[in-house]
Amino acid sequence: MFYSEGYIPSYSFPKNVVRFCVEKNSEYGRRVPKDIRYAPERDIAVAISEYAPGRFITIDKKIYRSGGLYSNPRPKGYEHNQAEYYFMSKDYRKDIIVCTECNWFGDEQEENTEYCPYCHARVEKRSMIKPWGFAPVKGQPVKYEDEEEEKTYAEAPYYSYVPKDTEMQNYKHTYIRFANLQDHHVLTVNMGKKRNGFNICTKCGGAEIAEPLQTGDFRVFKPYYDRYQCSHDRIETNIYLGYEFLTDMFMLVHHKLNN
Ligand SMILES: [Zn+2]
Ligand SMILES: [Zn+2]
Repeated sequence: MFYSEGYIPSYSFPKNVVRFCVEKNSEYGRRVPKDIRYAPERDIAVAISEYAPGRFITIDKKIYRSGGLYSNPRPKGYEHNQAEYYFMSKDYRKDIIVCTECNWFGDEQEENTEYCPYCHARVEKRSMIKPWGFAPVKGQPVKYEDEEEEKTYAEAPYYSYVPKDTEMQNYKHTYIRFANLQDHHVLTVNMGKKRNGFNICTKCGGAEIAEPLQTGDFRVFKPYYDRYQCSHDRIETNIYLGYEFLTDMFMLVHHKLNN
């Protein structure tokens, strides 16, 4: 029960805003990069749930279904494969280890473990992408009657820190022990449905919610519209959407439960 009693982060979130972009043709014609018609934004902590692939976003009385990861303007040299730029960037892609039972996570580069250092349950390796922006399926609104919204949510935060016994202080003569911890790594992550993550085209950014059984049939569309085709031939599966940040934590442990 350590983890559920566990940490209370101070939530001093850094400001990190992510946009949901709907394009329009540039006034300079169809051959030049598109402009943005709408770009509502949310803090990334909220965006990884509210803009996740499958979600409906209502703008100006039209309904858009989030269809993937997107940036405008495109990174230079990646005009037709914008997602590739981010998938290769260490700032956006991170390989992690997450516990299947509690909220521990580790860095895949640094930890080499099959079992969680907290609760000793099995861990699994995943890739996580920090979203750089979202956009609707094909850049178009949907007919509400034809589509169903699919919702996924960010989990309770994950922590990478295992506190040393010496850092814990007793609270008077009770079973409660506590620690004030500064600058620790915390992860907020949307694991999709049943921890299966998302399947994402590493070229166009088109994405779907991954099902437990991968059939190899992907229902992925470009999250924008232009005259180029994407064959979606480089889809990465079971990707988590999330981000890591540093925060101060106040940790509380109920001694009896921990033993
Ligand atoms: Zn664990
Ligand atoms: Zn694609």
